Amino acid sequence: MELSGHLLYIDITQICGIGCSFCMYADRHSLGAQLELSEQGRHNLARLINHPSVKRVSISGEGEPLNNVAAFHAILGLSRGGVAFEFITSGFLPHDRLNRFYDKTEAILQAHGDTCNIRLSSDSYHVEKIRHRPHGASLRRALAAAQGALSFSFRSVDTDRAFTRGYLLREAADCPGKPRIVEAGPLADQLVVGDRTFAIDYKNHVHPGAEVATERLDLHAYIAAIEARTGKRFTLGSLNPAPLHNGLDVTVKPDGAVALYGIEYLALGNIHADSFSWEALAGRVAGDPLLHRLHTTPFLDAIARIDDQDAVRALASTVNNPYWLVKEIAKHPGMMQQLAAK
Ligand code: SF4
Repeated sequence: MELSGHLLYIDITQICGIGCSFCMYADRHSLGAQLELSEQGRHNLARLINHPSVKRVSISGEGEPLNNVAAFHAILGLSRGGVAFEFITSGFLPHDRLNRFYDKTEAILQAHGDTCNIRLSSDSYHVEKIRHRPHGASLRRALAAAQGALSFSFRSVDTDRAFTRGYLLREAADCPGKPRIVEAGPLADQLVVGDRTFAIDYKNHVHPGAEVATERLDLHAYIAAIEARTGKRFTLGSLNPAPLHNGLDVTVKPDGAVALYGIEYLALGNIHADSFSWEALAGRVAGDPLLHRLHTTPFLDAIARIDDQDAVRALASTVNNPYWLVKEIAKHPGMMQQLAAK
């Protein structure tokens, strides 16, 4: 199997005091782990970040990553140039502090020859909790200068486009250039302001409760939307559009634990104690029947191998997301064996 265009997610903190009513990691916040880079951790991350087959290094958290800016900037410092970073945040800081964070980040990026896209959470859950809303201020900052090392986009943890569109248009209202929304696909919009375009991406709502509006996509519709975007059947791993191969989707947790996204039950080691390379990780996936199946067999075909389809449907409708469905299936060893069986 060929794997390229890898995605490295580094969750740098479990700390968050924002308290969104929907949070996938609320149960982790009391643990309070913060990523600190040991010597071995630096060595591993530098090797992973600087590999030519990495398409993006995404910094986020099981909490708010602005609570561990030191780790983020230390990770940027490991780059040997040409790395596409991404920072996923609520942007909750007062605007003067947020701008100082942007300034320092941009200076490090320029010194190393890298880029970073700041992805600001722009759904109703985050927006209702954020006092110092960063969206308009970040747009004005972006529009005030030519496109540089720092760029901005917007994200929503659900498909409530009406909220996100209306909110961003209001935030952009006093920007130069008449702001407008352009639909860019089943899970994507663009906010166009003057001659600049800012991406908006929508995810499916994980674990929707009964209060979530019914126009949300169910698991099958969500997978169909992803497949329409990539032009190929959906498997786990880092998704690249056809005809490109998919890559690995590797997550580093705040305690240094390493796992494949969605398959976290399988511990691959720890960046502070073990040695990691993309080649070794790819070898692990190729040699493990379950990992190989999840990375090569279309997801819906893979889960159809499980005998108890009523149980699979019940789990799917509860979690409503393929990665989180695998996490649930992993709690049932018999189902996992059927997934992996020849
Ligand atoms: S900002 Fe993110 S981590 Fe914090 S409560 Fe909201 S969803 Fe959870």
